[in-house]
Amino acid sequence: MYDLLKKFYEVFGTCEQETEARKYFAPGRVNLIGEHTDYNGGHVFPCALTIGTFAVARKRRDTALRFYSMNFEQFGVIESSVEDLVFREEDEWTNYPKGVIWAMKKNGYEIDSGMDILYYGTIPNGSGLSSSASIEVLTGFVLKDLFHVEISMTELALLGQFAENNFNGVNCGIMDQFAIAMGKKDRAIFLNTADLSYEYAPVNLGHQKIVIMNTNKKRGLSDSKYNERRKECEEALSELKAVLDINTLGELSKEEFEQYKDAIQSEVRKKRARHAVYENQRTIEAVEALKSNNLILFGKLMTESHLSLKEDYEVTGIELDTLVEEALKQKGVLGARMTGAGFGGCAVSIVDDNEVERFVKQVGEAYKKRIGYDADFYVVEIGDGPCILEEV
Ligand code: ADP
Ligand code: MG
Repeated sequence: MYDLLKKFYEVFGTCEQETEARKYFAPGRVNLIGEHTDYNGGHVFPCALTIGTFAVARKRRDTALRFYSMNFEQFGVIESSVEDLVFREEDEWTNYPKGVIWAMKKNGYEIDSGMDILYYGTIPNGSGLSSSASIEVLTGFVLKDLFHVEISMTELALLGQFAENNFNGVNCGIMDQFAIAMGKKDRAIFLNTADLSYEYAPVNLGHQKIVIMNTNKKRGLSDSKYNERRKECEEALSELKAVLDINTLGELSKEEFEQYKDAIQSEVRKKRARHAVYENQRTIEAVEALKSNNLILFGKLMTESHLSLKEDYEVTGIELDTLVEEALKQKGVLGARMTGAGFGGCAVSIVDDNEVERFVKQVGEAYKKRIGYDADFYVVEIGDGPCILEEV
């Protein structure tokens, strides 16, 4: 592990500022089940990870903002000011933290002076493990601490989403920021995205491990396809509204959907809506399965989720399908599915502890043979939400 404090002083100097530098951490997240349900008023079931983003920060006496990321060292220090918070292409990755400061101010919180802040992330960027939400929630958490902002963790999550939507122009739901802000060790969060009610469910995997498989395929088309899926679901919902009194697809049971689906005028939209409805019900069932320690059923539902994302929602692609297919051929695997928006990024599987090594080797080899480049594998633990780290 890097000595982040040392690096901070190398980058920003040791000159006295308003506060001493402090060290912070916010996790990444993986969604165990409940994909593409968060903008359909459905349930999701993500958990925070022990991989995430670190920051070292101190408050300044003037209004300057100085950002540095060890993951983007080629850009050096990027400067802004708390009085000039606008999205600029040339400000690169700093548009994420800038967006959070902008959102804080816009929501009436007083951020009157600047800060120096260094980041170091252990989440692969752009792979569906939400490094963007991690850096957003982390930045909000740093501001909360340095500027004594009275704000709850749920509000921090909402501010992060507000910033990503309105400053960075990314149309994400609330799941990522919520899972990160509210993360709890060895617990996943059963979140109802319709009203943000939630419940922690213990994830007692026993001798199983969560293994994340990264396709290493960048999500190229994902933004436009993501918006297309959202639109298709909105249209299907408005067609269903002609015959049903509902506000979201998440309100429908499978039976209700089957009864009224013919109100949807296109086969494609019918498939999209079917995924949204069935995936939501699957998520509710999966949490019940976990609560009654039925890991076999939990794994089976994960695999069904993948199939639905592949066939009805059509957001997987050859790389994710290959990983899941190869994973399911292995011994000691309870289930596997893509996670995140899809079209690339990561898949998640539950694998017997004793089989993990062999699993990684065999799935890795098969993937390389079929796709032509390497996948990466991470055996992950479920971790806590943001925290201030002891100074070393
Ligand atoms: P994901 O959230 O799936 O990882 P995104 O494309 O939404 O992918 O977010 C990745 C972007 O977030 C990066 O390209 C970068 O702009 C920003 N980011 C995430 N982590 C860091 C970090 N440690 N340092 C600087 N920027 C980061
Ligand atoms: Mg993101």
